[in-house]
Formats: sequence, structure tokens, C-alpha cells
Amino acid sequence: MGKMGGKGLSLARRLYTSRILGLGLGLLCVSVAMFPLNPAPWVWGLMLFNGLLWPHLAYHWSRRVARPYHAEQRNLLVDAFMGGFWVVAMHFNPLPAATTLSMMAMNNVAIGGLRFLLTGTAAQVLGMGVGWLFFNPIVVPETSQIQLYASLPLMCLYPLALGWICYRQAYTLGRQKRELLALSRTDSLTGLLNHGAWKDQLEVEFQRCQRQRQGGAIALIDIDHFKIINDTYGHVAGDIVLRQLSKMLKHNLRATDVAGRYGGDEFCVILPDLPLSSAAAVMEGLRDRFATLGYEQNPTLKVSLSIGLAAFNAGHTDATLWLNDADQALYEAKSTGRNRVICCRDDRPRHELLGSV
Ligand code: GH3
Ligand code: MG
Repeated sequence: MGKMGGKGLSLARRLYTSRILGLGLGLLCVSVAMFPLNPAPWVWGLMLFNGLLWPHLAYHWSRRVARPYHAEQRNLLVDAFMGGFWVVAMHFNPLPAATTLSMMAMNNVAIGGLRFLLTGTAAQVLGMGVGWLFFNPIVVPETSQIQLYASLPLMCLYPLALGWICYRQAYTLGRQKRELLALSRTDSLTGLLNHGAWKDQLEVEFQRCQRQRQGGAIALIDIDHFKIINDTYGHVAGDIVLRQLSKMLKHNLRATDVAGRYGGDEFCVILPDLPLSSAAAVMEGLRDRFATLGYEQNPTLKVSLSIGLAAFNAGHTDATLWLNDADQALYEAKSTGRNRVICCRDDRPRHELLGSV
């Protein structure tokens, strides 16, 4: 690739296609306007160069530099300069001149907004000044019928092409935005929701439970002695265990359940519309299956889970209190021997339930 692949190469590619089309159609428009003025051979030569060769040269140029974006900005100014030059060369023939200037202005505003529109206009004025030195123009106030027809392809096809390019770009940007949003909500190791995204879902579920006055449960799941697993079998084996647990969550929960990675070796699940006893049965099944799971790479490895469960109740005035209940239950599971599912009891005084989450 050499110097290729720098910032703006995709812009250079897009402009390559639009420049071939725009300057090809521009050549038709300008040459028909110039024909009655009997231009010198060098003017014909310059016209052919600008219309047919310049797009390829400009692209070649951009590809060879470290910053194609800057090269393309310069190329666009050359386009604008030449546009101004041809407007004077055509002796300001109204329709071809207006078409040439407006197509270039459209191009410049689409690429670089108002700032580049102004810079491009300055380049057009400069091109006109230089053209004035060569052509000493007399303003031709009329456009003949054939000159009108020769301007039509540029007027009709170029905006269509530019519109299509802008649409494709907006479409790609929209897709990339959606992909980025999904990535920002996903835990890269397990593919589950990350901490922030899961908490957002918890808030949604909490509001729903409050509105509809109906229950749901949340579970906090923590791998027992995970640090020892890492220390004994290595972090790669630890990662395999984390992925295995996330796989199991994905396969064993309902489509409406929402699983996430709370952080480190801790996972979290929202189980909407499920009484605490049913949620406990689901989690007990998960705990049991996980405890008996075998690992191909480490046959001696056995991993257990501690799980804390809490049902939504009227005392939960915000989602954090609900989460605190699950955390307290998890703490109890850990402190009473691990490898078990503990449900938060509603009868506990609330001040006992408040812990750090
Ligand atoms: P307990 O039974 O009380 O839960 O003890 P524990 O060892 O599981 O808990 P502790 O919080 O002491 O250790 C969690 C460990 O998880 C420490 C950290 O290095 C490890 N860990 C956190 N994230 C990752 C990860 O993405 N991959 C791996 N392999 N280890 C991780
Ligand atoms: Mg742990």
C-alpha cells in the first residue's frame, strides 16, 4: 500500500467517481459554449486535459500522499479555480456559466460546509481573474438552444450523482452509529450487556414494575473463589469460565430475561414477571448445571456459583434499593458457605438491607 490508506482516502475515492462524471459532463457544456468563440488550440488542449485527464491525475495525486484529505481539498480548489477560468473563457455565457459555478458550489458545500464554500468561491474568483488576463471577455448575454441542451446533462445528472453519494454516506454513517452504540453497551469478553447498559435495563424494569404493580426478580451471580481459579489455572482458563457462564445464561434464560456482566466475575440477571420461587428454581438449575460442568482443557476444574435473588416489592422506592436486596442475598450466600442460591427475605428491616453495590 505504501503511502496509501492515509486520512481521507475514502473521500478521494468518492470524489474520483464524481469528478470523472462532473468534469466529463462539464467538458460537453463548456466546449459547446466555447465553439462559436473559436478558441486557440491550447485552449482546446486545456479543456480536454481538464475534462478528461485531470480527474485521474487528481486521484493519483491524492493516493500517493500521506494525507489524501488535504490533497483532495487542494484538488477541489483547483476544480473551483478552473471553473472560474472557464466561465470567463465562455464570455459569461449565462446558462453554462451559472451551471458550472453552481455545480462546483454544490460540490464544495457538500464536502466542507460553508467554510469550504467560501474558500471555493475565492478560488473561482481567482480563476476568473486569471481568465480575464487571457481572454479579455465581452459578455455574451444569450445562450443558444444547442448550448442549453449541452448544459442539461450536467444540470440533471451531476446533482443526482452527488445526492446518491451523500445518501450512501449517510446510510453508512447510520449503520456505523448503530454498530458503535451496540458495542458501547456490550461486554467484549462475554457478549452480554455491560454494567451501564444492564443498569439502564434495570431502571426500565423497575419503572415497569412500579407502574403495573407486578413482580419480577433480579439475580446477582458471583463465581466462587475465582481468584484462586485464575491463580491455579491461569487467566485464559478464567476467561473460558466467564464465557462459559455467559453462554449458559444466554441458553437457559427466557428471551425476555436480561443478563449482563456486572463486572469482574459478577453477573446480573433481570427476570421479569417471575415470582421469587420460580426465579429461585431457575437459578438453582443454573447453579447445579454449572457446578457439574466439565472443562476440556482443565478436567480437574470445578466451578461453583453463589447467587443472590430479590423480588420487586412496594418498599423499593428506587432501583438501587432493589439491587441492594439482591446484593445482601449474595453476601449471605457467600458468608454461609458459597455454592448456593439465597433469596432476600422481605421481612428484614430495611436498614439491614442497605449495603454497598
Ligand atoms: P469469592 O468467592 O468471595 O467471590 O472470591 P473471588 O476470588 O471469586 O473474588 P475476588 O473479588 O477476590 O476475585 C475476583 C477475581 O476476578 C479477581 C480478578 O483478577 C478476576 N477477574 C476480573 N475480571 C476478569 C476477567 O475478565 N478475566 C479473568 N480471567 N479474571 C478476571
Ligand atoms: Mg467471586
